[in-house]
Amino acid sequence: MTGLHLVPENMHEVRVEGRHLLFHVPTTSLFEMDAVAGDVLGLFHEKVTVTADDVRDRFDGIHEPERLAETLSEFKDLQIVRDGTLEAPSPAPIKISDYPLSTMVLNVNTGCNLSCTYCYKEDLTSPDKGEKMEFQTAADAFELLLKEAAARDRVNLVFFGGEPLSNMKLIRAVTEYAERRAAEEGKTVDLSLTTNATLLTDDLIEWLDAHRFGLTISMDGPRALHDLNRKTIGGKGTYDVVAGKVRKLLERYRSRPVGARVTLTPGVTDVIAIHRHLKHELGFFEVGFSPVTAGDMATFNLNQEELAEVFAGMKELGRHYLEGAVKGENNGFSNMHQLMTDLVEGTRKSLPCGAGLGMLAVDNEGDLNLCHRFTGSDLPTFGNVTDGIDKPNLGAFLEDMLDRSDKSCRTCRIRNICSGGCYHESYARYGDPAHPVHHYCDILRDWVDFGIEAYTRIMDENPEFFTKHIEPRRALP
Ligand code: SF4
Ligand code: SF4
Repeated sequence: MTGLHLVPENMHEVRVEGRHLLFHVPTTSLFEMDAVAGDVLGLFHEKVTVTADDVRDRFDGIHEPERLAETLSEFKDLQIVRDGTLEAPSPAPIKISDYPLSTMVLNVNTGCNLSCTYCYKEDLTSPDKGEKMEFQTAADAFELLLKEAAARDRVNLVFFGGEPLSNMKLIRAVTEYAERRAAEEGKTVDLSLTTNATLLTDDLIEWLDAHRFGLTISMDGPRALHDLNRKTIGGKGTYDVVAGKVRKLLERYRSRPVGARVTLTPGVTDVIAIHRHLKHELGFFEVGFSPVTAGDMATFNLNQEELAEVFAGMKELGRHYLEGAVKGENNGFSNMHQLMTDLVEGTRKSLPCGAGLGMLAVDNEGDLNLCHRFTGSDLPTFGNVTDGIDKPNLGAFLEDMLDRSDKSCRTCRIRNICSGGCYHESYARYGDPAHPVHHYCDILRDWVDFGIEAYTRIMDENPEFFTKHIEPRRALP
């Protein structure tokens, strides 16, 4: 028999409280290593090439020969060891022929009534210059969604801006249209939006609740932190008005849990205090954090030190999540919950997100963009709501993104969770949506290792947590 050697890019060993685990990269699965597997793997660490005879000789009288042979065979099946004479197989190029569109994002107004200093939106304008989407554009977009999602029972319609509530006339008309047309087609439409909350009124809350909107509120924490960046056009902090509206919303909103989305920038990095305020003092169901690392305005990007501080805070909050999960409680830290979901489901992502595949974003011209962050950018669009998706060009773009063979992602141990990172982040930072998010990779790997450890502890101490609290989720980051 020829010698076998390790395939390090397919495995990552993790030790949790004396246990030896193998994170199997191709399937995002965790295996507990028994004594035989641990010893055999140890031999591969000692010698570059290992034969079956080497294994038998080394463990003669220690492990049963059949168990040793089985273990070697399992290692080969898992592709964590490979015949040394064989070249690593090159992944076959993937052809995209199917576009499983399920979500359309409508940029209903490029204008926003606030002037948050860090806002990343490429097409953002002040309210007086805001370009509002026409009803016909939105209706055509929904028809395109119905056509492309013909095989689906549910479709998702997302309203984005600027500030989407500043074009309620359109949102009301499109909601009525979409609900009627979806029913005619035998489908359910799920509606959602992200808002700064300032334009919420009692009537509006009632109306959104009646239509079961999924709501995400952009809010950055207690007054001192929120007011650093989230300001009116006149430069005044918006905490008081937002907190007042949020209290009212959370008191009355019954149809769905409401989440908060926090943008972390220099000075707004105290993850624990922000979570405490939003979750426990205001009462949001969950809180998600988006660290800014690649915005247009360099002063709002977190530097390496600040990023490290943010992730130290996220890990501390992650430990609180773990303590809660062991007692059967979800502490509403949505980044951690998403990571647990990926690990529970054995997520194997070939692409970082659904942009361009399951989701498209429509700008006020009716052109189709990869996602809500690209509307107004220089990246070419991929068709429009009247002529449909430009499938040849979109397919070529996605196939290019799928081919990571010449990039560091090819051998990265979290490649099936991260898949190269957000296209927009890479586009903003490197001018290339396919560029790996290098400024971030070590931190992301560390975060996933942290998640694996937490997952193992929860699995051990309260596995029901996963069946009770984890369900497939969809979110606009
Ligand atoms: S972007 Fe970085 S962390 Fe993500 S898969 Fe590529 S190398 Fe790994
Ligand atoms: S991860 Fe990035 S590219 Fe993907 S949908 Fe979100 S913002 Fe867009």
